[in-house]
Amino acid sequence: MVRQYPPVTIETADPPPICLLCGVRIFGPDAPGITDSLHPGVVFREERWKMYKNTKMEHVVVPSHEVEQAHFPKFPRLWAGAFRGLIKNKTKYTLTGISIIRPSICIGHHLPRDSHTARIGGRRGRPQYDDESFIHFHTAHISRQPKKLRDRQIGYLIHAHCWILLAHAFNCRPSALESRSVQLVTAARKYWRNHPAAWAMEDEALYTHTPARRLYSRPSRRLHGCDIYQNPLVVPEVANIIACGEKKKEKKKRKDDDPYIGPSLPLEVAILIAEQICPVEYTAEEVTSLRAMLDAFQWVLPEWFWEQRCSHDLFFEMKADSQFHWETRLDLMHLYASSDCLANRERVLSVMKGIKQLLRN
Ligand SMILES: [Zn+2]
Repeated sequence: MVRQYPPVTIETADPPPICLLCGVRIFGPDAPGITDSLHPGVVFREERWKMYKNTKMEHVVVPSHEVEQAHFPKFPRLWAGAFRGLIKNKTKYTLTGISIIRPSICIGHHLPRDSHTARIGGRRGRPQYDDESFIHFHTAHISRQPKKLRDRQIGYLIHAHCWILLAHAFNCRPSALESRSVQLVTAARKYWRNHPAAWAMEDEALYTHTPARRLYSRPSRRLHGCDIYQNPLVVPEVANIIACGEKKKEKKKRKDDDPYIGPSLPLEVAILIAEQICPVEYTAEEVTSLRAMLDAFQWVLPEWFWEQRCSHDLFFEMKADSQFHWETRLDLMHLYASSDCLANRERVLSVMKGIKQLLRN
């Protein structure tokens, strides 16, 4: 059955779509027809989905992991338009599939019922949704629900990428999060009540998907200290360093060369020197100095030393293999100290840490 909905006005429109997990707006590229396959919109200009260009399907649906793990080289901010819903039922919340938001005021959202799927677009801007595959709901308010939402199906919105990041922050599988969704929503709402200034943050100078405004995106002009629209989950620079580290490790294995052991010092002394050269709060220059020293002496520093400076919490990509060579750790530390590509990840993880803390209490 295809539903008919009343015209959209400010009075009937939902609250702005804000991610429950990072507090930032869910927004799509500011262009009409972004998810239209016949236009074709930006979604179908990304290499990974070019094959669907010109399709006449009403809905192009792909496995959810294609979206939630994606980096979008042409439109890096496209991640911020991919979202899920946590829909309130009587005693629990149900996780929906993913859809890409369109830049318009709306009355509710249609999302795939199956949480393992993602609708990335279709042949037209105003598609027909059937109740069997899609669920319609209204954006829940973060505090008390307004009268107009009484007796309506409501749900909280979350970036598809933030859901996966939360699983990393909680050190669990995404499916395990769903079973704790009631406590999770309660803790997140409490977190935002305690941190109202961080909810619904915007930065107009960065509010674009195109490179046209790069001029205004200098770090010194960022309202909230970092680019809040930067992908917090997929950071290609980190993936590249880890991939290079893997190759180096393989080479080393093949050579089977025993490391050179430098001047024999008690480990405590070596650590003291390393801590002086590269403190916990370090600069890129200090990382370079530590590298030079370890290159020369090949000291094997303990795991806690590295964890303080290059933690698995921030660089969760390292979890797949804990045996990371110190050179890879130093590459990651240098990246962290010399660029801001991890700044938004760090910000969002600190929000999630706060939510986790409330959930424990
Ligand atoms: Zn988010």
